[in-house]
Amino acid sequence: MDISQKRRKLLKVIVLGDSGVGKTSLMNRYVYQKFSQQYKATIGADFVTKELQIDDKLVTLQIWDTAGQERFQSLGAAFYRGADCCVVVYDVNIARTFETLNNWHDEFIKQADPTDPEAFPFILLGNKVDIDGGSSRMVSEKKARDWCAARGNIPYFETSAKEDYNVDEAFFCVAKTSLVND
Ligand code: GDP
Ligand code: MG
Repeated sequence: MDISQKRRKLLKVIVLGDSGVGKTSLMNRYVYQKFSQQYKATIGADFVTKELQIDDKLVTLQIWDTAGQERFQSLGAAFYRGADCCVVVYDVNIARTFETLNNWHDEFIKQADPTDPEAFPFILLGNKVDIDGGSSRMVSEKKARDWCAARGNIPYFETSAKEDYNVDEAFFCVAKTSLVND
């Protein structure tokens, strides 16, 4: 089948989580194959896009980043509007970033107001698993998986934007999960 016959699909993905957990880094790794140690509060584009092919579909992931407002929890309605998937990220080395996951999850449900909150596609990413070879980890994989199980079996990936570990796999799952009801 040639590409023109394939079904095209645009999916809006939003990425939430505390400041500094690696949201922008994960997106840059996935879309541009780049990583920077330097911390820059996110500026510029509201979203980046990446095309991928899944079965007979050409999928464009439109991935929205928070422009540093995560500290104030003041992302506007336009940010959430029409989202097809919500990726929540925490840092496995900082317990507080795991404890705030409920706030991000609840905030998303409140703001995006999906028709069926129980069935809405969420994905959880535990990032920075590379740090100190895992010896500074504060949140166990089991704890994260239990959180996901309690919320209707949300898919979970442990990632490293720095080492390019599981990033493609995570976003492939984002696309797959978003297409489930298609
Ligand atoms: P954001 O505020 O959630 O967008 O976080 P950033 O993507 O800006 O990352 C914050 C800091 O963590 C930056 O200094 C990044 O270089 C660093 N960082 C992001 N991901 C990783 C990772 O997987 N491993 C390590 N070691 N550092 C990371
Ligand atoms: Mg950022």
